[in-house]
Amino acid sequence: MSLRFNAINNLITSQEADVQGSAKITAIFGENVFTSKTARQYLSDEAFKSLISSIKAGQKIDRSMGHQIANGIRAWAEGKGVTHFTHWFQPLTGSTAEKHDSFFTIKSDGTPIEQFEGDALIQQEPDASSFPSGGLRATFEARGYTAWDPSSPPFIMEIGQGKTLCIPTIFVSYTGESLDYKAPLLKALEAMNKAAVEVCNYFDKNVTRVTATLGWEQEYFVVDEGLHNARPDLVLCGRTVFGHGPAKGQQLEDHYFASIPERIYAFMRDYEEEAYRLGIPLRTRHNEVAPSQFECAPIFEEVNLGVDHNTLLMDVMSRVASRHKLRVLLHEKPFAGINGSGKHNNWSMATDTGVNLLAPGKTPKTNLMFLTFFVNTIKAVYDYADVLRASIASAPNDHRLGANEAPPAIISVFIGQYLSKVLQDVKERVSEKMDEQDESMLKIDIHKSIPELLMDNTDRNRTSPFAFTGNKFEFRAVGSSANCASAMTVLSTIVAETLKNFKKEVDAHIDKGEKKEIAIMHVIRQYIVSSEKVLFEGNNYSEEWEKEAEKRGLPNVKTTPLALDYFVSNKAKKLFEHNKVYTHAELEARHEIELEKYIKMVQIESRIMGELATSHILPAAIRYQNLLANNIKGLKDSGLQDSAYCNQKHILEKISEHISKTSELVEKMIEARKECNNMSHTRTRAIAYCSQVKEQFFEPIRYHVDKLELLVDDREWYLPKYREILFLR
Ligand code: ADP
Ligand code: MG
Repeated sequence: MSLRFNAINNLITSQEADVQGSAKITAIFGENVFTSKTARQYLSDEAFKSLISSIKAGQKIDRSMGHQIANGIRAWAEGKGVTHFTHWFQPLTGSTAEKHDSFFTIKSDGTPIEQFEGDALIQQEPDASSFPSGGLRATFEARGYTAWDPSSPPFIMEIGQGKTLCIPTIFVSYTGESLDYKAPLLKALEAMNKAAVEVCNYFDKNVTRVTATLGWEQEYFVVDEGLHNARPDLVLCGRTVFGHGPAKGQQLEDHYFASIPERIYAFMRDYEEEAYRLGIPLRTRHNEVAPSQFECAPIFEEVNLGVDHNTLLMDVMSRVASRHKLRVLLHEKPFAGINGSGKHNNWSMATDTGVNLLAPGKTPKTNLMFLTFFVNTIKAVYDYADVLRASIASAPNDHRLGANEAPPAIISVFIGQYLSKVLQDVKERVSEKMDEQDESMLKIDIHKSIPELLMDNTDRNRTSPFAFTGNKFEFRAVGSSANCASAMTVLSTIVAETLKNFKKEVDAHIDKGEKKEIAIMHVIRQYIVSSEKVLFEGNNYSEEWEKEAEKRGLPNVKTTPLALDYFVSNKAKKLFEHNKVYTHAELEARHEIELEKYIKMVQIESRIMGELATSHILPAAIRYQNLLANNIKGLKDSGLQDSAYCNQKHILEKISEHISKTSELVEKMIEARKECNNMSHTRTRAIAYCSQVKEQFFEPIRYHVDKLELLVDDREWYLPKYREILFLR
């Protein structure tokens, strides 16, 4: 029996995995995390103080305290049955990396002991030569090291019976170049903190720290393991390269917010429980638009922690899924013709005095502060829309952006009718000559309940890539499989840069003798005027918008190899250098890595297409072709009229046509790949893979294969069909 029918059979006879528990969330929340509260119990006063001040200042642990802290952490972890530890980091491959070491060691006199040195906590040197470095290590130094980021607490990962202590770290080369997602993110957050505090101090001298906040919404598909394993394309690429659309797709819109199927529900409860133990504050779960598509979202957190929790959760979900004989698909577009998955990044800024800087205030003074940060963010997105686009570019996300289901590749900002009117008002009422007599102008009256206004669905544009949703912006173009750090690094940096310039300009006005509030209003007005082109309230999926955006001069880059250019433009280099986030060399390296990743993904998809077509699809089609040919011959030989077998002939002609087209196109695609592989320049090769392999062949080959799927005898078809993968569970 083929894997396909085996899987379907097993589905019918299989049992649900047992999920125990349903413990009260508060009883288990964070129990596998070395929180400050735990630290208080396990550390001396001195060590505790040192740890907390490192966390607050975002600095490395003091080496002299390292040993004490490490001992405290080990005592806690061993109490929970942990035997190994690992530095846990986020290399540019896109997943997370670990190398487990045991606490166990043997002293020079042969006594076996368990120990965890301070040095092992603070810094490690993993054999990192096989992680992507974009040539950085070749140019600088062969080794890399990981260093603990104390702002993210250690946690215990349970895999089966094994428990490992994980230390969240950055990953850098010996000469200091960052080789991961976290190191640049921390730098960008620090740049934003500095710039935002200075601007905050116009309004409130008590603010000493501004943190960015992130609440992600993770979309994903869940499919049966057996059906998944019978699809080599899902196994190797995370998406199906073939598959005819099912008779029923999402047109009945009966999946969204429908009740969650039991088997999936058991899986959700299981991974949620693990997430709670790890301190991931999950809050919502529901079905998404497409069949078998779901979403989860946590309560928002500080960006660095939010990013760690998202990458950790993606890993936990995948592991827990296999316990339930399910597979989680995090790919942006696992099924053609069915909605893809994204990861909305809800983002805001908060002060250490407890103010959300993107929440409208209650008094004219706090309104001015809100307006300042609101307008600066819009200006940042306008000025650096291209860099923001580059931050979300990836081969899988290309399937989403611009595919009329997700935001287009054009970055625009939606703010809603009400705030559009506020900005218009400011633009009209504030004049160059405004002085203290006109101070009434400053009393901008902003509705106190904008969140509620926007919650009203009539004023909540779901097609916008960057939308204001009442007290935060929602960056919706991020891909479901992406590490949010990439988008968050760019967003924090461009806001830092814009706020710095804002401060300079306001100060210049003040130096000319303007009153502070008037100076701020002047610069805000100027920013509104210079960035209003990026504001768009209409349907982002429409063709008119594409034309309109072009008129406005907004960038619209549809493919990754070209979008990535904006990472290495002079503008981007200046931006990142100025804010000490990336050096030129680091940007060049990242550019190279992303291009390579793109090439490899398209190459693997192309290979799997060729292989499936040749060894699965064509053999099945040819068997059926023979059957038909024999049938026709038999009927003809028995002396029947043409009309007795003309339908069979017609089917045979169609099948033969699709067979020869498939085979011919696959041959040509292989040739095209060979040509691409001979191109030595990475960018040229990536562009060629995009236009000469992917764009030239993927759709046409798929067209013929999907036609064959409809024609060929179902019993001969070994790849599970969309209707089975999406609807059977
Ligand atoms: P939606 O209707 O899009 O689900 P919600 O109000 O439920 O809107 O919020 C969605 C996400 O936004 C949640 O993950 C939430 O934690 C996050 N969020 C709310 N406020 C903030 C904030 N100030 N900063 C960052 N994220 C936030
Ligand atoms: Mg949302």
